[in-house]
Amino acid sequence: MTKDHAPLIVVSGPAGVGKTTVVTRLLEGTNLCLRRAITATTREPRPGEVDGTDYYFWSEGEFRATIDSGRMLEWAVVFGRDFYGTPRSEVDEYRARGVGVILVIDVQGAARVRELLPNYHLSVFIEPPSFEELEARLRGRKDMPEERVLRRLATARDELTQADKFHHRIVNRDLSEAVRELERVIRERFNN
Ligand code: 5GP
Repeated sequence: MTKDHAPLIVVSGPAGVGKTTVVTRLLEGTNLCLRRAITATTREPRPGEVDGTDYYFWSEGEFRATIDSGRMLEWAVVFGRDFYGTPRSEVDEYRARGVGVILVIDVQGAARVRELLPNYHLSVFIEPPSFEELEARLRGRKDMPEERVLRRLATARDELTQADKFHHRIVNRDLSEAVRELERVIRERFNN
């Protein structure tokens, strides 16, 4: 990948902060030529999630085989439990064709992209207005057992300490404002 390719944008932050919603809204309303990469996971689909739209839902065997054949850009075990990762096919071909790609990934994945492509990506950390707000949002999902909520909160505490490693930080207090701010930093960085 070179700087001649279309932009690669990493949007990260704790689970439950609303980063997928911010990115989905941005893509609905922008004229920037961008798409969100569909990433892969070994976790079970939640009700309503569709394979190939929300994620590629893979078995652990499929996931490991894809890593072993060098076809993952980055991957991580998230919450000590499931594999998550970005297939290269979701990124390289699009960027080469002039389509910018947004990765909505955890901070471990963001760290990996930082190592791989230090100068050729833009990274944005989405943070909650407060830790209590994040807790309320995670509990509001109601589709997750308590033990998993606690695990996500413990991970989030740790992730929030890494916010200053990103090019930009955006507080998701108001969705429309967060979307506007994300679009602004993307345009600013890529002169568009
Ligand atoms: P969830 O299970 O709530 O959909 O996602 C859990 C966490 O994994 C979220 O922070 C999400 O952004 C992150 N995630 C999703 N896809 C990827 C990926 O491809 N790579 C990495 N490193 N994290 C991912």
